[in-house]
Amino acid sequence: MFKLAPLPYAYDSLEPYIDAQTMQLHHDKHHQKYVDELNAALKDYPKLQEHSLEELLVDIKTLPEPIREKVRNNGGGHYNHTFFWQILKKNNGQLPKGQLLDAIVETFGSFSKFQELFNETAKKVFGSGWAWLCMNNNQQLVVISTPNQDCPVMLNLVPILGLDVWEHAYYLHYQNKRPDYINAFWQVINWSQVEEYYKRAQEICG
Ligand code: MN
Repeated sequence: MFKLAPLPYAYDSLEPYIDAQTMQLHHDKHHQKYVDELNAALKDYPKLQEHSLEELLVDIKTLPEPIREKVRNNGGGHYNHTFFWQILKKNNGQLPKGQLLDAIVETFGSFSKFQELFNETAKKVFGSGWAWLCMNNNQQLVVISTPNQDCPVMLNLVPILGLDVWEHAYYLHYQNKRPDYINAFWQVINWSQVEEYYKRAQEICG
């Protein structure tokens, strides 16, 4: 059965950009619910319980029809949020370095052009979803969005950076002002972790 890991830092450690109450509800209630619903969906499928979450999501189209949507939504929710908590940390204006920065500049023209594209992509998500920086099978960086809790592995992409733009991720503090939340996100990106995800993506896509 899948378990929710504790948040790897204090609820208030991203203040004032993401408030403690939002983090607590987001992790303890929303993420917990995805885990509980995923386990409930797999309850009568012992063979599927032996698979990793990533295996279930990559093969989502082959899962039994009665649980396919539940695993897609709740397994995707568990995967996306587990990834998201890892890449958050107050960064005091720090930017990415090394190979990741080089690849961003080479692909998008400059770091600020990448930021603009990512921000626009996040703003344009209609309803609930995510914005992502991913690597494809040709080792190219791409910026995409996914609806609901769909995740990059379902599209054969490896996530490097991701932003939750569901209202539950920002509404308490930012209300309807999603662009303000998106701008604040750049202050809480843990670039050393994102650099690790970039290296991992290179290994997987290499
Ligand atoms: Mn969320």
